[in-house]
Amino acid sequence: MKRPGILLINPWIHDFAAYDLWAKPLGLLILGSMLRGQGWDPILVDCLDPDHHSLSSLRSPGRSHGKFYKSKIEKPEPLRLIPRTFSRYGVPVDEIRKDLEKLAPPKVILITCLMTYWYTGVVETCNILREIFPETPLILGGVYASLMPEHALKSTGVDEIIVGPAEFKLPDALYRWTSYQPVKEFSNPQLQFVPDLDLLSNVRFLPVLTSRGCPYRCVYCASRIVQPTYERRTPAEVIREIEINVLKYDVDEIVLYDDAFLCEANNYALPILDAFAAFRPTLKWHTPNGLHVSAITPRVASALKKAGFKTIRLGLESASDNFHRSSGGKTKWNDFLKAVKYLKDAGFERDEIGAYLLVGLPGQTSAQVEGDVEMALEAGVYPKLAEYSPIPGSALWSSSIKTTRYQIESEPLYQNCSLLSAATGEITWEFLSRIRKMIRKSVQSGRIDQLGSSLHS
Ligand code: SF4
Repeated sequence: MKRPGILLINPWIHDFAAYDLWAKPLGLLILGSMLRGQGWDPILVDCLDPDHHSLSSLRSPGRSHGKFYKSKIEKPEPLRLIPRTFSRYGVPVDEIRKDLEKLAPPKVILITCLMTYWYTGVVETCNILREIFPETPLILGGVYASLMPEHALKSTGVDEIIVGPAEFKLPDALYRWTSYQPVKEFSNPQLQFVPDLDLLSNVRFLPVLTSRGCPYRCVYCASRIVQPTYERRTPAEVIREIEINVLKYDVDEIVLYDDAFLCEANNYALPILDAFAAFRPTLKWHTPNGLHVSAITPRVASALKKAGFKTIRLGLESASDNFHRSSGGKTKWNDFLKAVKYLKDAGFERDEIGAYLLVGLPGQTSAQVEGDVEMALEAGVYPKLAEYSPIPGSALWSSSIKTTRYQIESEPLYQNCSLLSAATGEITWEFLSRIRKMIRKSVQSGRIDQLGSSLHS
């Protein structure tokens, strides 16, 4: 049965900095395909769309990631004293307003929000939606709503909050707001993974999700809270979806959004990678979320190379085994060294491999950061510093509250990783700038390659 229109909204980001590293509103696109399967008519308005018709010069053809369009905005009061420029990232407000005004009033509006500290972007979006569609109920889901539901309800004034994975709660929520009976069963559970890419204005790459959730429980991560169970599709389904979409959208870049793609690689990642190495070796794969270091064997490294992986990001976080023992045990230093060796033996170049290192953790000293960076350089990979953001509900949340000088419990803006809000006094922006400069110098001077080759020889 045909049902009315539902508007899906990806709101603006308000932040000091944001970069479009293959960002797509995957959760909304997946809901879009499920809604369409139930007879609803979903429409997406993506406030971050780099391909919006008003931004024709923003992204050159063939470029799948890059800058967002941004406009300087006033800092919210809690951030008033932070000496950095604050911006709205995404399509200009007037352009989104015009797009919304062209639409027939939708039956329901679904909004998402990734980071808790981006909520002022949601508030701005909701205010405009209320002006244009005063009668339409607003439902907010996603990470911010799942981690801070009470704050989200109060700050945005939406009609309903959905906590956790939305797909099973949404049919009842839609019934409450529209009186359309929920469709009892989704005929195909694989739909929980398949985005409706027709909702996008342009498909430059395929966003792919082969699994949801993660079997690990790292103390600094929200994966378990947002997606409590670890679920996977079958390798055959993944292969089929990619094969169909590569042809349909004529693209050659695949971006994996998984948290744990390489878990039990023999039965899962390897059949997928081998299939594409055999039949579509010209595809280029990217993994912005980081791969599990301990799962990289010579066979896996070789399969990644043959399938066409280009951007390898390793979730090292720290070179210290003590850190890993106490934070979730997802890897060890020796496993990291072996993984790097296997990747290089498989033919990956140094500049294709980056290692994420967490900085600004509660209690972390500057000497620890310097030690982690030096060890990553010695391993011959580019250390990528990732500022820690305190996440409500994570195991590190209570230590973050004890360490911070900000009211992170009541004000999500203070959870912004740019503030280094849980860091000790030694870890400052000046310190991190110095470390980043040192990393760049080590790369430019070739020191990283000398260190790496002596370690792996
Ligand atoms: S392995 Fe990665 S996704 Fe999984 S819990 Fe740890 S940090 Fe989160």
